[in-house]
Amino acid sequence: MAKPKIALYWCSSCGGCEESVVDMAEDIIKIKESADIVFWPGAIDTKYKDVKEMKDGEIAVCLINGSIRMDEQQYMARLLRKKSQIVIAQGSCAHIGGIYGLANFYTKEECLNRAYKEVPSVRNPEGILPQVKSKDDERELELSGFHDLVKPLDQVIEVDYYIPGCPPNPKYIVEAIMCILQNKSIPKGSVFADRKALCATCSRSDTKPEKAVLKEIKRVHEWIWDPEKCFLAQNMICLGPATRGGCEERCIKANMPCRGCYGPTENVVDQGGKFLSALASIIDSKDEDELKKIADSILDMGGIFYRYSLPSSLLRKRIK
Ligand code: SF4
Ligand code: SF4
Repeated sequence: MAKPKIALYWCSSCGGCEESVVDMAEDIIKIKESADIVFWPGAIDTKYKDVKEMKDGEIAVCLINGSIRMDEQQYMARLLRKKSQIVIAQGSCAHIGGIYGLANFYTKEECLNRAYKEVPSVRNPEGILPQVKSKDDERELELSGFHDLVKPLDQVIEVDYYIPGCPPNPKYIVEAIMCILQNKSIPKGSVFADRKALCATCSRSDTKPEKAVLKEIKRVHEWIWDPEKCFLAQNMICLGPATRGGCEERCIKANMPCRGCYGPTENVVDQGGKFLSALASIIDSKDEDELKKIADSILDMGGIFYRYSLPSSLLRKRIK
């Protein structure tokens, strides 16, 4: 009997999500015994035309990582949706927009100017920007169109399940694929991670402040952090209270605060807003000048509170 088919694809991606597939290590063999990987541009030589030639629904499960910003990514996401029974958004970029989503604080023109004209390492005296269509001698060249906004996968196609994280925990990739291959019933929209916030499993939660204690905010390089104590109790921003657990506290164990890559917890729409509310509840001041000083010490509030989730937040982009 033919084995079920698996596909993997990357959109605006750094490659870290592909690496997390490789990090499944010997579990890849377990998957290989139960299914055939028929499309994976990051690892095997397959072409877009191979996907086009497949029947609708021929792929049992397709994992797509990276956010969507280009015509080509949108086209491939739609094509793979048509050809797949189940689509999983893999990693923060596909799940909630990811780190590239911070580009939504800028216009498309600002992004292109910055990348192709302004950065110190670029030499572009004629100020040439990429064009969708251009001519080089006799050849006509075509590039993929660049969209106004970065989007998570479910703003472009219907998504069945999500595996969060930047990069995701490989154990959830194995779990998600095996559950589907074994026909386990999983409610649509499920997120393969914990339901509760990271603080629920964090080894430092005993020292997490319960009342207003914060008088200042420090940055990572400004202090020597006690490896046993909650970061919030040390005046350092940690997004654990507003972030879904499941990462096995990898950053916390490396003495780095949570940056929020697992996205919001169940039933929370706006991760940044939720964290702002948690932070405000432990600031120990009612004095307006002191409060302003504390707020001003957070140098990039949007970039910290919405580092991974801006495109799927209530803000979605810069509001003028
Ligand atoms: S989620 Fe993180 S690891 Fe995956 S593609 Fe995006 S930036 Fe890279
Ligand atoms: S705020 Fe951060 S350090 Fe403190 S308990 Fe939560 S996850 Fe752990």
